[in-house]
Amino acid sequence: MVAEIITIGTEVVMGSILNTNSFFLSQKLIELGIEVHFHTSVDDNEKRLESIIKTAISRADLIITTGGLGPTKDDMTKEIIAKALGLNIELDKTMENNIIDMFTNGNWVMTDNNQKQAFKPTGSKFIENTIGTAPGIYIEKDSKKIIMLPGPPVEMELMFEKGVINLIKDDLNIITRSINLVGIGESSLESKLNNLNLNSRNFSVLTFAKKGVVEIKIIAKGKDKNKLEEEIINRIEIIKEEFNDYIYSYDSISLEEVIIDLLNKKRWTLAVAESITGGIISSKLTKIAGASSVFNRGLITYSNTSKIEELGVKKESLNKYGPVSKETAYEMAKGLFLKSNVDIALSITGLAGPGGGTQEKPIGLVYIGIITNKFEKVFKYNFNGNRNLIQERAAVKALDEIRK
Ligand code: ATP
Ligand code: MG
Repeated sequence: MVAEIITIGTEVVMGSILNTNSFFLSQKLIELGIEVHFHTSVDDNEKRLESIIKTAISRADLIITTGGLGPTKDDMTKEIIAKALGLNIELDKTMENNIIDMFTNGNWVMTDNNQKQAFKPTGSKFIENTIGTAPGIYIEKDSKKIIMLPGPPVEMELMFEKGVINLIKDDLNIITRSINLVGIGESSLESKLNNLNLNSRNFSVLTFAKKGVVEIKIIAKGKDKNKLEEEIINRIEIIKEEFNDYIYSYDSISLEEVIIDLLNKKRWTLAVAESITGGIISSKLTKIAGASSVFNRGLITYSNTSKIEELGVKKESLNKYGPVSKETAYEMAKGLFLKSNVDIALSITGLAGPGGGTQEKPIGLVYIGIITNKFEKVFKYNFNGNRNLIQERAAVKALDEIRK
């Protein structure tokens, strides 16, 4: 089954709101084992909406729309869809009475606009909306399923969970598992993964890159649940064999959770001195419950002066090698280690840009220093991306170094 998601609304197309509805619906459909091939957004315009709907009908089996179900004039989703399908719009007496009751009970004045919500295309069904006024609509025609949901995300999401899943899922079992990796690029991961030939009719193995980490998602669909589980485990074993060093967790466990857990198990304490990442590493770690027993401190030593004053970095080193250098990263970590009496001291310094890069020291150059009782090491990296992405990738890499 191929799905298309159509988000309707001038505000979506104009960029005045973030289109979270497509994001939500795609994730849910993928989890149900339904392939989403198209995301379409269209403004509140009759002609354009009609043509989008016709296109969608020609290329998808399941169409979910959001928006344009309200009582106002620019809300015309169901009218246009009915027209595109050649269906009439008829008044549903039960729904009309519901609406009348609601207005009577609430002591509100009902207008013709509100009555508009009791109309639906011939042969369609309403989908209940318990937290808003606009009901959803479900039509099945010529083996195509069309589902219309209102625009407000809280209403749409609840209705999807309560009233839509049953309409679209088949009787097959769907199991999804995620494998989370760090330190490997998506493209190299994907090409190696392709060589493993893990995809089949019942299994999709997909990769998703997210700011420095990559997720492998396995979606399995079939009748026999036990057999699926078994085959998923087989696939995970194959993936593990190939990528073991890069795997930090499964399913929804984050890298920072893994680190805090690891430190707690080993009873190691950690201190962090951040320059380029400006507190991102400390922030990530302290969001995790259990950080208090292992996270000693995080210093943001952004300026040269602070590196000297807080960490005892030598002024001569800064002058000679610069703040973004192996030497500075080392002295930052060393100073922090001596000062904080922890098991692991981590430092990070680099160039996030956009200004200031040179041939010798390009934007994205990052040094990570780690000092423990057993070893002292500085790692050098070059990250791509804009300022924000470089900072995020550097922070993730630093966490990965602790993991190792
Ligand atoms: P209502 O009865 O609230 O008017 P509706 O179905 O007519 O419902 P719209 O008028 O199209 O929905 O949108 C209502 C609000 O829902 C928008 O102002 C916006 O805040 C939110 N919304 C609409 N579409 C999206 C979307 N794709 N992603 C996130 N939010 C959305
Ligand atoms: Mg509206």
